[in-house]
Amino acid sequence: MSENQYDTCVIGAGPAGLAVARALAERELPYTHIERHTGPGGLWDIDNPGSPMYESAHFISSRTLSGFGGYPMPDHFADYPPHRQILSYLTSFAEAYGLRDRIEFGTEVRDVEKNHDGTWTVTRADGRASVHGQVVVCTGSQWHPNIPDLPGDFTGEIRHTVTYRGSDELRGKRVLVVGAGNSGLDIACDAARSADHAAISMRRGYWFIPKHLFGRPVDTIADGGPHLPMWLQQAVFGGLLRLVNGDPRRLGLQKPDHKLFETHPAINSMLIHHLQHGDVTAKPAIARTEGRTVHFADGTRDDFDLILLATGYLHRVPAAQKYFGDEQHPDLYLSAFSREHDGLFGVGFVETNSGAYQLFDSQAQLIASFVQDTQDGRPTAERFARMIRSDRPDLTGGLKFVDSPRHTGYVHSEAFVKYLNKVASGMGWRTAGRPPRTASVRPEAVAS
Ligand SMILES: Cc1cc2nc3c(=O)[nH]c(=O)nc-3n(C[C@H](O)[C@H](O)[C@H](O)COP(=O)(O)OP(=O)(O)OC[C@H]3O[C@@H](n4cnc5c(N)ncnc54)[C@H](O)[C@@H]3O)c2cc1C
Repeated sequence: MSENQYDTCVIGAGPAGLAVARALAERELPYTHIERHTGPGGLWDIDNPGSPMYESAHFISSRTLSGFGGYPMPDHFADYPPHRQILSYLTSFAEAYGLRDRIEFGTEVRDVEKNHDGTWTVTRADGRASVHGQVVVCTGSQWHPNIPDLPGDFTGEIRHTVTYRGSDELRGKRVLVVGAGNSGLDIACDAARSADHAAISMRRGYWFIPKHLFGRPVDTIADGGPHLPMWLQQAVFGGLLRLVNGDPRRLGLQKPDHKLFETHPAINSMLIHHLQHGDVTAKPAIARTEGRTVHFADGTRDDFDLILLATGYLHRVPAAQKYFGDEQHPDLYLSAFSREHDGLFGVGFVETNSGAYQLFDSQAQLIASFVQDTQDGRPTAERFARMIRSDRPDLTGGLKFVDSPRHTGYVHSEAFVKYLNKVASGMGWRTAGRPPRTASVRPEAVAS
């Protein structure tokens, strides 16, 4: 039997898996879709066991720029929608394109195995197996916590934020949040309001970008303005941030050791507010711990009951790790195509500085077009297969990202989109999904 008699297996029904399913369905390509939870939406369903979602979470990219191609978020959504709105958007997306009924819910994939004839066997936790021509792994990259060693013998509680759900957990406690990713910043603000005492430890200074500037979501200003070279964007927006936030050292923060945009953006308007009001204290890196006392790199110390590690995630793929290699950053062409294993793809692994869904959609469209052209024996398929193996474009957009695990393989979204579009147009492929054929169930009917 030849490979093209087999369908494509999509694993995971979060935003990435839904984008892939739609791209395949749009081309009427056969596929099997497997999800271990009881519904679509991925980590945005706070009831999906193991999800890192917490009650105060909102999108950090604006709704205007965050929807899938062909299916924008509705106008009545908040500028930065809360997690329940995002879940309702994803659910309605699955319904609008008829994807939901095709998902095997409550089914965990335990193992993915490459066969000698180039096909793939996918084995479920209950032992059932199926054979596929291609596998698209969309199992998410924020489920497996990265837990650093804390020097010393802290006798309070230490937890990663993957288990954090809401501020009730902080009441009556002295809380130290470690890490200034967007979850860390949100949770430090929860602690500022709910804990007995709150501090946030950051190993470097960051550029804190407010969610709104001039009354508009900040990403829409950057997106709608004239296209400036990167050095000028850094100078103009950096100057603006210095004007808005003042000298960060006044608030106990460190001065950034990098230029604007050279780390994942810290988009948060509230941390500065709480620092200004004394509700939370900024601390540098932890030097060591001793009982309930934490000693910091600047020689100061403070006592805590709970250390919450907002220290990020490993990009693990337990069901297929041996094919994805590096747990921190799988080496995928355009962050989606396995360079070594034909027929293996991953969506949801791109690390970038913009909303992810349009990128997931573009990657999904490319995967589906590649599968289609391969099955139809078109020359574009062979041309693209060669690019998967040998093309290594510079997608940094000229930025020198800081040296940290998160920023390994980090791409500048503008450079990434530009390159995806160039590749797709060279192949005659599209990079965005189309609106649904039938009148859709919009999220306004589902939640507000
Ligand atoms: C607090 C927070 C804020 C964020 N803000 C933004 C934002 O503003 N904009 C943005 O674009 N992104 C944001 N993100 C990034 C986030 O990663 C994406 O929004 C998105 O959820 C990732 O989609 P995904 O489909 O790759 O993974 P997930 O949403 O993690 O979905 C993976 C799915 O795979 C399923 N699964 C896993 N393993 C298996 C298995 N073995 N078998 C079967 N099913 C499996 C899971 O149950 C899950 O449903 C944010 C993330 C967090 C945590």
